[in-house]
Amino acid sequence: MRVGIGHDTHRLRPGGPLKLGGVEIPHDHELLGHSDADVLLHAVTDALLGAAALGDIGQMFPDSDPANRGRDSAEMVAAARDAVAAIGLRIVNIDCIVFAQRPKLLSHRQAIRERLAEILEIEEEFIGLKSKTGEHIGPIGQEEVIAAQCVTLLESTEDK
Ligand code: MG
Repeated sequence: MRVGIGHDTHRLRPGGPLKLGGVEIPHDHELLGHSDADVLLHAVTDALLGAAALGDIGQMFPDSDPANRGRDSAEMVAAARDAVAAIGLRIVNIDCIVFAQRPKLLSHRQAIRERLAEILEIEEEFIGLKSKTGEHIGPIGQEEVIAAQCVTLLESTEDK
């Protein structure tokens, strides 16, 4: 078994919608980045790559490569999923936290879990998703950024 951790932060700017976990959420701010800036999918990608010791999202999708501009982050998660599978590892579960002062994510949680399940090709019951505010202080609480964390467990497909 292998455990992995991923973390990411992206700045907010006025606009919308907010893309989080592969889902477009109506909001008055959007995330800023070289790709589509989906902070949750980036944390998931890094957790998978980390668990498999396959480097990180920046190596796989360099922001110096024009091909990655505006890229759908679901492609990054899928690439990490495939890379993990290619070395004989299977995703057991993931558990994620999104750190955002606004919007409230509870009503979007199920849609995001369904989308993550689709991208990762695992059942929703193996996808944990929680959200925390920044208590109105610091860059999260002042709505300057949204951050995300993910842990994952992988197991070998070979010794079964
Ligand atoms: Mg990122």
